[in-house]
Amino acid sequence: MKVAVLSESSADKAAVRVFIEALLGRPTEKPGMPPFRARGWPSVRESIPQTLMHLHYQTDAEALVVVVDSDRSPLHDPKSQQRSACNQECRLCLLSRIAENTHAQLRRRPDRSPPRIAIGVAVPQIEAWYLVGRDPSVSEASWLNAVREGRTPYDSRQLKQRVYATDRPSIDLETARAVEESRRIVENDLLDRLISLFPVGFGTLAQTVKNW
Ligand SMILES: [Zn+2]
Repeated sequence: MKVAVLSESSADKAAVRVFIEALLGRPTEKPGMPPFRARGWPSVRESIPQTLMHLHYQTDAEALVVVVDSDRSPLHDPKSQQRSACNQECRLCLLSRIAENTHAQLRRRPDRSPPRIAIGVAVPQIEAWYLVGRDPSVSEASWLNAVREGRTPYDSRQLKQRVYATDRPSIDLETARAVEESRRIVENDLLDRLISLFPVGFGTLAQTVKNW
């Protein structure tokens, strides 16, 4: 399956692809991507329309997977039936809306359907996912409970320290560790645990991908 991945760094993209291939149960191919480099949440958000249009008109990509960090934004509320009922700052809803609006503008091609889209939000950042099976204190629930009490259970620096043994990894170290940890999770059958510990930000993504 030809799947494009859009995420905050090339390291994140490499790990996300490992997870996607495990969810699909088959390898993926990379379609050609437009010549920009997304760095961080705002650039991912801004590049979704351009990426989708490029994939639809210029490639034979079948799907686009977008993963961003939640940072300190509010987590998606799965109980809100209408997207307008969710928090205005919810990144899952914001990105879904951008993707749907772009989809609606794509001219139909006779030979294929527009790329499917799956969106994931790592709470509070993707390093939390890499700690599944290694650090049981890291989960969406522990993050949410702490935030409700006005605490921060772990910050960006601490999560990076736990994954990379430094809070300022080089991109090469970041990529090597991201791939190592995502493969560890997949090879040790911990994908279901990743879904249960991060049911909103990863579980929603996993559900969508499994239906492809
Ligand atoms: Zn939402």
